[in-house]
Amino acid sequence: MKLAHTKQHLTNTLRSLLAALLVPLAAVAAMALTALPAQAAPPTPAFGPAIEGYAPKQYQTTCDPTAKPGVLDFRDLLNRTYGTHPSGISRDCASGGTSEHKEGRALDYHFNINDATQAAQAADLLNWLQATDQYGNQDAMARRLGIMYIIWNRQIWQDGNWKPYTGASPHTDHIHFSFGWPGARREASWWHPPAPAAGRVFHNLRRDNGDWTGASLVDAGAVTAVAEAAVPGGDMHLVTVAGGRAYTNLRRSGGSWTDAFLLDDNGSITDVAAAGLSSGEVLVFTLAGGRVFANLRNAAGTSWTGAHLVDGNGTITAIAATTAPSGEVHLFTLSGGRVFANLRNAAGTSWTGAFLVDDSTSVTAIDATAAPNGEVHLATVAGGRVYTNLRNATGTSWSGAFLLDANGGITAVTLTALPDERIALFTLAAGRVHVNYRNEAGTGWSGAAMLDANGTIINLAATTSDDDEIHLATIAR
Ligand SMILES: [Zn+2]
Repeated sequence: MKLAHTKQHLTNTLRSLLAALLVPLAAVAAMALTALPAQAAPPTPAFGPAIEGYAPKQYQTTCDPTAKPGVLDFRDLLNRTYGTHPSGISRDCASGGTSEHKEGRALDYHFNINDATQAAQAADLLNWLQATDQYGNQDAMARRLGIMYIIWNRQIWQDGNWKPYTGASPHTDHIHFSFGWPGARREASWWHPPAPAAGRVFHNLRRDNGDWTGASLVDAGAVTAVAEAAVPGGDMHLVTVAGGRAYTNLRRSGGSWTDAFLLDDNGSITDVAAAGLSSGEVLVFTLAGGRVFANLRNAAGTSWTGAHLVDGNGTITAIAATTAPSGEVHLFTLSGGRVFANLRNAAGTSWTGAFLVDDSTSVTAIDATAAPNGEVHLATVAGGRVYTNLRNATGTSWSGAFLLDANGGITAVTLTALPDERIALFTLAAGRVHVNYRNEAGTGWSGAAMLDANGTIINLAATTSDDDEIHLATIAR
């Protein structure tokens, strides 16, 4: 594994250098500074490989137009994702023809093919429904939702195939969705997502002499997400999520830990991020219902502001944060496989709003760190590979994503900048952690080396305290 990584590293370095030479800087800058609406596919739970087939062909046989719960849920999901559009479910029993509308299990959702935005939204939705999942299941979301057929723009989809549709309505001003009974009744697998993976939290410390202490248990709870932030003086804040609630745990520079403190009892938190400020304040970001909230701890540690909404998008699936030397806080959000950046000014009085940084639509995990020189490093995982994307210190351009680690089995990444401008990047693959260092000059990477061969690790987070120690937190089953 080590050898493969090292070889890949050399290839990647060459590719990165070539790409850096070939990408016109102006084009990169324009891309980075263009604000786009954070509009993307609905948030999707982390399903396993088990999935049902295409919905059974259960056409209308009775009449009961009351809207069925699965159809209402699907309509609400679309409204949250794309903004509320006109829609209809129920149809009177006296109206002519056979239609699942008369059984409350068909949805007409209004997108107009002649409106560029709505046409793009319709395409985004259909792409999401018909995408092949990571296990090779075609039309995975359409099957999980129990959708029996779809009519849109003179075509009808069923069992994975589009065919010409010649009915009276061309369906160019709305998409028709008919649900089989399992979907209509909320019995399909979309409504039974697996519980998030959970485990215990371990802390591993790299001393400034380069030695690792080894992982030690710090939280025996059923933790599903973790973040770390360092503040001046060597203190490090560990933030964990268990049961949808956020907790903080402070490690003093001497190595002692406080007890876990319940910070947010929301109950539906799925991810956390944290940023330490030079003032000693700590910003904790929580992700709940696809929306991001910020909660600020004062420098004395005597109070929190409470959670404030920062991004109400509703489709965000992961977050990351870091503080630049300027005092600006960079918040990164993942939505529909795209990465957005949102910048809080140093005074903490305003946010820029979300800007698109990576439109690849295939990103599954993110993390970020700001170096002492002001550059911000964004790491992304897509297709099990790790990419890095560098924002220059003045914020005028992004380098674009460069392939760093082509392992193919990577599920999570975290990275942290050291005071000497080196970057330590940690990858998680097959439950094990590798570490890869970028040199001070930024001209090369060491290649991935095994750090923790535990084999049951499900997530990780890292930060560097100002005493030059790297703190790595892992969640292991
Ligand atoms: Zn219809």
